[in-house]
This record gives sequence, C-alpha cells and structure tokens, in this order.
Amino acid sequence: MPVLGWVKGIRWKRTVSMKVPLCLLFLMIGFFPMYILSKVTDQSFRQTQIDFRVMEVQNQCLIISNKMSRVGYMNEDSRDQTVDVELDTIADIFNGRIVVVNRNFKVIKDTFRLAEGRTHVAEEVIRCFQGESGSRLEKDKHYFALAVPVYGNTEEKNIEGVLVATASTENLTSMAEKVSEKAAFFQLVTCGILALASVVLAVVTVQPFVRLKKILGRVEEGSLEQVILEDAYKETKEISSAIQNTIHKLKTIDQSRDEFVSNVSHELKTPITSIRVLADSLMSMEDAPVELYQEFMTDISDEIDRESKIIDDLLSLVKMDKAVEELNIVQLDINGLVQQIMKRLRPIARKRNVELIYESIREVTADVDEVKLSLAVNNLVENAIKYNVENGWVRVTLDADHQFFYVKVADSGIGIPEEYQSHVFERFYRVDKARSRETGGTGLGLAITRKVILMHHGAVRLVSKDGEGSTFTIRIPLNYISRPAERTS
Ligand code: ADP
Repeated sequence: MPVLGWVKGIRWKRTVSMKVPLCLLFLMIGFFPMYILSKVTDQSFRQTQIDFRVMEVQNQCLIISNKMSRVGYMNEDSRDQTVDVELDTIADIFNGRIVVVNRNFKVIKDTFRLAEGRTHVAEEVIRCFQGESGSRLEKDKHYFALAVPVYGNTEEKNIEGVLVATASTENLTSMAEKVSEKAAFFQLVTCGILALASVVLAVVTVQPFVRLKKILGRVEEGSLEQVILEDAYKETKEISSAIQNTIHKLKTIDQSRDEFVSNVSHELKTPITSIRVLADSLMSMEDAPVELYQEFMTDISDEIDRESKIIDDLLSLVKMDKAVEELNIVQLDINGLVQQIMKRLRPIARKRNVELIYESIREVTADVDEVKLSLAVNNLVENAIKYNVENGWVRVTLDADHQFFYVKVADSGIGIPEEYQSHVFERFYRVDKARSRETGGTGLGLAITRKVILMHHGAVRLVSKDGEGSTFTIRIPLNYISRPAERTS
C-alpha cells in the first residue's frame, strides 16, 4: 500500500505492509471507546461525589433548621445556646462553615465567628427567603454553598431566617484525582494489551494473503501445476481463481505457441526434404538424361515456390498478429474488387473445369483495406476451386443491407465433414493433407481470411456437408469504425 507524505516539501512514496493500517484500525477501534468511557466515568464519579456530599450537608442542615424552628432560634430572646453548639459541631463534621441570617440579612450566627453582626446578601439567601431553597457549586473555587430556611415557631410558619452552609469540595476532587490516576494506569496497561492484540489480529487477518503469496512464489519458481486456492476470504478465493484462470490461459497460449512453432518447422522442412531428395537422386545418377534433369529441376523449383508461399503466408499472418498493424481503410467498390479476384482465378478454374459464377445483388461501396480484403476473398474462392469436383461450380454472391455487406462463396465441391468444420480456420489445419499439398496449399489460407475479417470487425460463417459442397459467408460492416480489435489469433 503506498503511503504518501511530505518531508521538507519533498513528496515521498513508500509501500507499507497491509498489517500497518489494519493494526492502526484495530487499535483505534479499541482505544476510542475506551477513552470516551473513561472520560465519562471520571466525570460522573466526580459529580456523584459532590452530589452526595451536598445531600449529606443538606440533610444535616434540614435537621438543625427544624430544631431551630422548634425552639424559636430566630427569636433573639429565646435563642438556645445548645443549638449554637450543635451548629458548630455540624460545621466541624463536614469541615465547613454555617452562617445564620435573619430577615434583615444580618448574620446572627457564624461558626467561624467572623461575620456576626454583618450583613449577608447572597443570591441563595434571597432565593431562600422567596421560598426556593437550593445549592450553588463554585467549581473553580472548590466549594459549594446551600441555603435552608429557618421557620418561626408561630402558626403561620414564616421564614424567619436562612441557614447558609458552605463546604469545601477540595478533598473530594483530590480523591477523584487519585481514582483517575489509578484509572489512567489501568488504561495504559489496557492500551498495551490492545496494541499487542491489534498486532496479533493484523497478522492473523493478513495470513491468507501471505499463504497466497507463498503459493504464487512456488508458481513463480516454475511449478505451474500448483493448485492456487486460498478460500479463507471471498476476496482471496476470487484472486486465487483469477490467477488460476490467467495461468491456464498462459499455459494454453504457451501450448499453442509450441504447437505453432513445431508446425512451422515441419511445414518449412517438408519442401526442403523434397528438394534434398530430388537433388541427391540427381547427384547419385551418372549420365542422367537431360529430360530427367529438367523434370527434377522443375520439381525442385515447385518446392521452392511452395516454401516461399509458406513463408509469405506466415509473414502476412505474423504482421497481422501485431497489435500495431493497422488497416489502410479506403472507400472501395466491392463489386469491382470481387470481379477482379474472379478474373484472376478464372484460368485456374478453367484448368480444373470448374464454372465460376458471379452474382451481384446490389452495388456495394464500403470502407475496407483493399489488399487485405482481396487476400481474404481470394483465399475463399481459390479454396472453392481447389476443393471442387470435376465439372463443378463456384458461385460468388455479393449482397448488402443498411449495415453490412455479404460475400457468399458457395461450391459444389468435396465439402467439409462436420467434425472438422471448427478447425479449418486454425493455422496449418488441413482436412486432407495430401490434397492440400497437391494443390499447393499451405494450411494458412483460412486463418488469414478469418484474421482479416475480424480486423474489419466482421464475421465468417461456414455451412458444409461432406461430399455436397461448402458455403463460406463473410459479413463486414459498410462503415469501418476504429475500435480495439478482438483477439483474433
Ligand atoms: P490450404 O492451404 O490447405 O487450402 P486453408 O487454410 O485455405 O489451407 O484451408 C484449410 C483446409 O480446409 C483445407 O486444407 C481443406 O481441407 C479445407 N477447405 C477449405 N476450403 C474448403 C472448401 N471450399 N471445400 C472443402 N474443403 C475446404
């Protein structure tokens, strides 16, 4: 996986193992919820502690305020000294301060004895006189204050005074801090375990890919028969089957290339062997007559022609195989082209007593490569003559619709048995080797024809019955549209 970064303005690219992002991902998945949980727990722990302390102080204050109401504490004449002692004790217990304020906001009791006689007008006091008791937390100053009403001991139950208790929250904070510290240590340990677990998980997750890589390593070393299958994940299974298919295709290509090379060698060797035999027999003969020399030399010359035809055909095929090979497309009168081919082949047809019939259903003009298409049609008509019977016929029909033109080459010849029909377009494939050889065939004609037609984005169809003749029909678009050619070999 490429990782991009910037170091002093220079862009760098590095490939890192898949384990790294996986490891980080697992770490993040584990760490973030843990971090949030610890923050929330810490916060609520602190709040609960404070709420608990406020409640505790409030309860104490309510108890004492009830007592103060009962004994009429707010009445200056009947103030009970024992209540003062109780107030001091309670303030000491929760380590705070209690101030009692009367209706004139005057402090009548301060457990710190600092504000007695002074005026105390605080928000919570005013609110308490209005009937709303409550507490106020000063987080920054680490204390809270709460106010509790003190009622008079008359029937009306008027609020005669307010009891204000303030207490520090500092000890609570420091306790929470200690708990936090312990939690942080626990988090640190958990993080360590998490990191370790992430690494292990990342390694385990990547394992199927590692296994696949190992198998591919063996394939790379040449063991092509290796079964490539890693089905731990759907993805690795798909990759395995894609690689297996690719290797199968490569093996097929390799096989067909070997076959082709062996065919080429064989085909090229055959005329040379004949030449050698002819030359050797001539050389071994003493006083051979001139006629015999002439006859042998003619045979040698025929074999040379055959050899050069094979080489020419091979070269045209190889040239067409190259992806860069382009068609020289021109707008052409197809009727003229077909007629020209037939004119050229008429002497051979005549020699074999085969009637050549041309039928043009309509005038056709199309975008084609003249040389290549001419070669393709020529091969079909020539085959129809070559593989015909005595006094047979060949009918070439040209037709078109709004999209394609069609050249149909039908003959009254020997036909092609059904089992061979799918093979005749293969290189060097011949149904009857002897006949092909006798007629000067190379076994490459139909392969060239098919290639040319496919290059024109057309198609070729064969209908034949053994002993009853064959019909080859080619279909080519009238307008050539350039697009990547299909694999045609
Ligand atoms: P060749 O050079 O041998 O003619 P082709 O590739 O042109 O090679 O044809 C392959 C084989 O297909 C031929 O050897 C022949 O057996 C068969 N074939 C081709 N055209 C015809 C046809 N019109 N009638 C019968 N057989 C044919």
